Amino acid sequence: MSFDGLVCPIPISDYPVVTLAHGGGGRLTRQLIDRMFRAVHDNEWMVEQHDGAVLGAPPKDHELVFTTDSFVVSPMVFPGGDIGKLAVCGTVNDLAMCGAIPRYLSCAFVIEEGFEMEALWRVVSSMGATAREAEVVIVTGDTKVVSRGQADGLFINTSGVGYVETSRVARPSSVREGDAVLVNGDVGRHGIAIMASREGLEFETTIESDCAPLAAQTRALLDAGVDVRTMRDLTRGGLATACVELCRDDISIALDERAVPVREDVRGGCELLGLDPLYVANEGRFVAFVAAEHADRALEVLAETGPDDTQPACIGRVTTEAPGRVVLKAVTGSQRLLDMLSGEQLPRIC
Ligand code: MG
Repeated sequence: MSFDGLVCPIPISDYPVVTLAHGGGGRLTRQLIDRMFRAVHDNEWMVEQHDGAVLGAPPKDHELVFTTDSFVVSPMVFPGGDIGKLAVCGTVNDLAMCGAIPRYLSCAFVIEEGFEMEALWRVVSSMGATAREAEVVIVTGDTKVVSRGQADGLFINTSGVGYVETSRVARPSSVREGDAVLVNGDVGRHGIAIMASREGLEFETTIESDCAPLAAQTRALLDAGVDVRTMRDLTRGGLATACVELCRDDISIALDERAVPVREDVRGGCELLGLDPLYVANEGRFVAFVAAEHADRALEVLAETGPDDTQPACIGRVTTEAPGRVVLKAVTGSQRLLDMLSGEQLPRIC
């Protein structure tokens, strides 16, 4: 069986599930999984099978950026992606938000005994395809198998390093009064795609996750000379949470609800599920705070480099009118303060 043109290197019919038998079974499972990984990540570091990947220092006048994230999404395969694609995109995108070019990733799998080898191969090969798309190399990894009931199928952790020119580091502290607030496309698709498949909801068309690597877009902004103050990917907690996190005591973020792109089917899904699209998770969307005079150029670059089925938008400004607050001008014309949601809105969304 093959995904993305890669043929699984092990006979899945002979080894249908991950086993945790004492003696030979566990060891055999490890060898089989190693073979899967090496078939997909055929690079000098994986081939060497050392305890660590020796990567060298970043180029002159660059900083090293390091991040990590864990992925527990349920269901593991959803319209527009799977846990493997998500695990690469999530970490690549966190590096991209710092202005960095993502370079190297680690990945660690925690697998529940009895997990199907075919499903594992799908995830491993999907990670490989996404890593190639994002131009990152998975240089080191680890696998642990736990007994039935001690994990739910498969959990993945990825960590990543990237390089950023010292002069281009994007930081939350760089946001200032007058900055334009941009979003690279419509919000809410990932969360609704997950919730719809989890709850068995059917819409007229299948809503696919927006899950995608973002480094090409963030680099294009920087390469175009846009003064990017900071960026944040709109993952768990969505657009509203990202803005609340980035707001400081000396600034206010004013958002215009009418300017925030939300697809009609996503809006319908949100109404059905009682969710606010501003708080729903995305995996291929980010907010960019840029110098006001660069907003038009930035929107052009985002439109040129983004997916065809969405449009970037300017959704607000940084002001000093209500320091420490994110103020939404609602569709109705009234003003609403946005805050963090108390508790977790949607568990296991990523
Ligand atoms: Mg992030």
